[in-house]
Amino acid sequence: MKRIDLRSDTVTSPCQAMRASMHGAEVGDDVFGEDPTVNRLEAVAREMLGTEAALFTPSGTQSNLLALLSQCQRGDEYLVGQQAHTYRYEGGGAAVLGSIQPQPLEFEADGRLELTRAAAAIKPDDVHFARTRLLCLENTHNGQALPMEYLGEARAFADTHGLRLHLDGARIFNAAVRHRVEVAAIAGPFDSISVCLSKGLGAPVGSVLCAGTTLIQNARRWRKMLGGGMRQAGILAAAGIHALQHNVDRLAEDHSNAAQLARGLSPIEQLQVEYRESQTNMVFISMETEHVHPLHAFLTEQNIHIIPGTRVRLVTHLDINTEDIERVVTVIQGYFSA
Ligand SMILES: *Cc1c(COP(=O)(O)O)cnc(C)c1O
Repeated sequence: MKRIDLRSDTVTSPCQAMRASMHGAEVGDDVFGEDPTVNRLEAVAREMLGTEAALFTPSGTQSNLLALLSQCQRGDEYLVGQQAHTYRYEGGGAAVLGSIQPQPLEFEADGRLELTRAAAAIKPDDVHFARTRLLCLENTHNGQALPMEYLGEARAFADTHGLRLHLDGARIFNAAVRHRVEVAAIAGPFDSISVCLSKGLGAPVGSVLCAGTTLIQNARRWRKMLGGGMRQAGILAAAGIHALQHNVDRLAEDHSNAAQLARGLSPIEQLQVEYRESQTNMVFISMETEHVHPLHAFLTEQNIHIIPGTRVRLVTHLDINTEDIERVVTVIQGYFSA
């Protein structure tokens, strides 16, 4: 029975063509700036995102941290969503390593941070307060693509208040495919954008931070300090290039698979299925506590993998096809009709 892993889009394994590109990658020492494949990945990324420069990093966590360290000083603060990866899921890195204070705000249901509430959280210039320096957004958030017009509003807001604007664009390509726009249109309003290569794009490792030249020079110094200066990293960058060149348009399949999953599960009375208007590759299902462990065990036996909970995130990706979705729906139907 084929393994179907719906826990995350990070679980994909590199396809043969991606492995072949890694195998053949020309390499050099990237700390000396001499790895031609890393340099090519950074060029491809900055061209796609429309920024002056880009920097290959080992992870999205490090890439977000570099963006914060490069734009905020000790005693500064950043406005960020309460459930944002850059606040909740990165070990408090900005505070621990940068002495940068987070100011978390509740997300709206569609993943926006409401800008009048953000304005109210900006601290006055007064010795009592941290200096509010940066607004951090996430796109997609919980698999939802932010409305395009909101991005311009956020830019205007940042300009009005003298803030920097960072995007945790771990899944920015899902947002671009969802809105049928060039990814540069989503990146455009931001001072810095972090992009994961190892989520829906299917690379085994890596992220890129995209921004202006000065910011990236700064980030390169921080990356070295954090131990993220890799040597013959072209082996990894080659996978990233392959991902950017072959795995962007096909994200639409993940989105239609997620929509199909949501449609298939919706009729099940014991489940509440969330798949909102701007959703991409994630479906959320909620259930009573009594079902949490039995359903998990039942699915595991069928080689279908989820993270158990009363609200479960199901994520579609490169290694899941339409037949897999049909099987998942049938198995879950089977569980609830037994
Ligand atoms: C995965 C992810 C990241 C980065 O995670 P890494 O595992 O460090 O690459 C950042 N933001 C969001 C929203 C993510 O989903």
